[in-house]
Formats: sequence, C-alpha cells, structure tokens
Amino acid sequence: MIIKRKPIIAGNWKMYKTVSQALAFVNELKRAVDEIKDVEVVVCPPFTALFQVSEALRGTGIGVGAQNVYWVDEGAFTGEISPLMLKEAGCSYVIIGHSERRQYFGEVDDYVNRKIKAVLAHGLTPIMCVGERIEERESGITEKIIKTQTEAGLAGLVADQAAGLVIAYEPVWAIGTGKTASDADAQQVIGFIRKLVSDLYGADVAAKVRIQYGGSVKPQNAAGLMAQPDIDGALVGGASLDVDSFSGIVKAAAGV
Ligand code: PEP
Repeated sequence: MIIKRKPIIAGNWKMYKTVSQALAFVNELKRAVDEIKDVEVVVCPPFTALFQVSEALRGTGIGVGAQNVYWVDEGAFTGEISPLMLKEAGCSYVIIGHSERRQYFGEVDDYVNRKIKAVLAHGLTPIMCVGERIEERESGITEKIIKTQTEAGLAGLVADQAAGLVIAYEPVWAIGTGKTASDADAQQVIGFIRKLVSDLYGADVAAKVRIQYGGSVKPQNAAGLMAQPDIDGALVGGASLDVDSFSGIVKAAAGV
C-alpha cells in the first residue's frame, strides 16, 4: 500500500518578533496561503506570542508550534515552560533538539528524548531535529551522527508514537549560512533516516513518518528539495520571517 504523506512547512521564528509583529505577520500569512490545501503550514513564534498567534489563527488550518519545552508538567523550574502550558496556549507542535539549543543551551540527546515523551503524553507533535556539524560531514561520519541522534531521540517510543512524529534533518552547516544541502545530499540523509525508522519500527511506520529538510530553504530552492521522494516538507528559519518568502516556500511545496 502506498501512503501519501502531507508535506509540512514549519517556520521557526527563533528569537524574532514581538507580539504585535507576530500578529501583523500571521494576519498577512492567512491571506497569502488561503488557497493552499495540500500542505500543512505551521508557525513557531517565541513563547510570548504563542497564545495570541493561536487565537489569530483559529479556524484557518495554520498550526502553531513552540520552539522548546521542559519535560515536566509543573514545578520549581524557573524560566521553563511545560507541555501542558503549551497545549493551553494553542500549540500542536513543539520543535525539540534544534541545533541552536544543542550548541548554546547544552541540550543533549537524553533531554531530547525526555521532551519528546513529555509532549507526546499531552497529544502534541514533536518536530525532532537531527543534523551533523561540518567537521562531522567532512570526516565522513554524517550517518553515524544521524543514527545516534535519531535512535536516542526515539528511545522507548512505541510504533504509533513514532509514526506520528515529524523529524527535521537539519545539517548544522546549512542553518542560517545560505549554504543548502544539494537535493541529492538531503535526499540521501533523509532516506537514511527513513531506513533507520524502518529498522526500528517496520516499513509501515517508516512510510508514515514525515521527515523535513531544514537549512537555508528559500522559495528558489524549495521545489527541488520538495520533489525528492523522502522529503516531506521543510523547517524554515530566516526565510520564515517574511510573508512573501515563507508563502513562496509553501507554494513551492504545493507545486503551484
Ligand atoms: C532553522 O533554524 O531551523 C533553520 C533551518 O534556519 P535557516 O532556514 O535560516 O537556515
């Protein structure tokens, strides 16, 4: 049986946009992607804008995600935000293990795994990020790094949970640098991730899980990446901050 996966284009706004800027953006975005039906669109604003952005997008089909989470529901964890809080703020997705969190905030594979389990327990969908650094690619250990990160992130998940995940392959050297992986290189690693999922959970789960590419995606390079058989969308940083470029990527994924 052939399973058709719906592409998902998610915008990671990082630490950009105040509440008023976020609202102006999504009100324009609604109009720009109104006609697109076959692509799932998600925006991931900073925590401060989540609630109001969710309210502004209610009923539009555009989803809302957070950029991070802590793994317990409540407690004395100053500065942290729980899955429960994200859910009530209107989120359905959470980016977990982004390379900037790994690089600047000490996020390790074990935290990624705890966070994934915590958000799944609340019915939220994790967007689990994996990716190699430039020196790892140059030493020929890309697949080893991806295997370690993927298996550690998925540890202890059952097949149904794994099937519902979104995985984002984001080579660290391509994030915010303007250097995109070639279509073939992105397909090769994403095909490898799908094979890992198949080895862990079987072919049916691997056929369902959505795997995005992320790293300097723009309207100009999106169509080639999205045409690859295993690439199911994009996690977009810089180009997600502008309505024209973000909606251009969504349109490229929709083939219009
Ligand atoms: C990201 O932050 O996830 C990302 C892919 O950034 P950019 O698109 O700017 O490379």
